[in-house]
Amino acid sequence: MLKRLLIALLILVTGTAALIYGRNFLVQTAPIKDSALTATIKLPDIKIFQRTVAPEGTKLKMPIDAGIFNAGTLWVPVIVYHHIGTAPSNLSSADQSMFIKPEWFEKHVKYLKDNGFETIHFSDLDIYFNKGTPLPVKRPVIISFDDGNGTGYTKAFPILQKYGMTGTYFVITNYVGHGSHLTWDQIKEMGAAGMEIGSHTLSHPFLTKSLRLKEELVQSKKILEDNLGVTISTFAYPYGIYDEKTVALAKEAGYTTARSFTTGNGISTGNLFEIPVVRIYANIGLDRWNKQLFASGKPE
Ligand SMILES: [Zn+2]
Repeated sequence: MLKRLLIALLILVTGTAALIYGRNFLVQTAPIKDSALTATIKLPDIKIFQRTVAPEGTKLKMPIDAGIFNAGTLWVPVIVYHHIGTAPSNLSSADQSMFIKPEWFEKHVKYLKDNGFETIHFSDLDIYFNKGTPLPVKRPVIISFDDGNGTGYTKAFPILQKYGMTGTYFVITNYVGHGSHLTWDQIKEMGAAGMEIGSHTLSHPFLTKSLRLKEELVQSKKILEDNLGVTISTFAYPYGIYDEKTVALAKEAGYTTARSFTTGNGISTGNLFEIPVVRIYANIGLDRWNKQLFASGKPE
């Protein structure tokens, strides 16, 4: 009898212990599993995805926020200017079209400001797409200047500062300090004031025909970095001409973005080395400028 009682007691104790252990096991494992899932969901890239990407096929109306119009694509007008000033009358009409009067440039910048655009840099695109960091602004625009003309400092820079905007200056390093081009002091001053500096090669060649392709990419970057003491991460192809080899070497040289001359404004991980642009020619009116700004790829 006592033996039976002892066996029954043993079964009861063992059973209770097993039940408690089992419960604990369940109680303990469930949260671990949940937190593991939560941790996965909270990865930075997923956060970005939730924050900015609209469902496939979503049509957004202007004004838009976050610069997104389709899954994985960021809508950013990248504007290109060359000379800010009055074109000399002896130039060809094609060359004259590369000039825009300062008062028109100011109208453009003011328009952007009045419509809620904020300037970002090409490096922000790298950080956004490759490192998963949200863009610092809701309605991004990039204002870029090609060739390192001095008017980028004397005319454009004060206007950008007046409206709290920044620009990206693509410099041809062999030309710095020569003729009407920017000087190193001017470039340094603009860099210190928050402007982005990019490379536009050593000598502005047709890169696909250049015998010094690698040098144009690598050396121009190094010269800028040695003179400015900052990392140069963006590049603009002269004349917008490039091929697969150029892109591969630009990546190898350490750039993280490169700007083309293709018209458009949808940027994704697939075209960070072929970033499309909105080209600005001559002193066009705001109505035409607006149409160009919202050209191909615009949200409807
Ligand atoms: Zn150029």
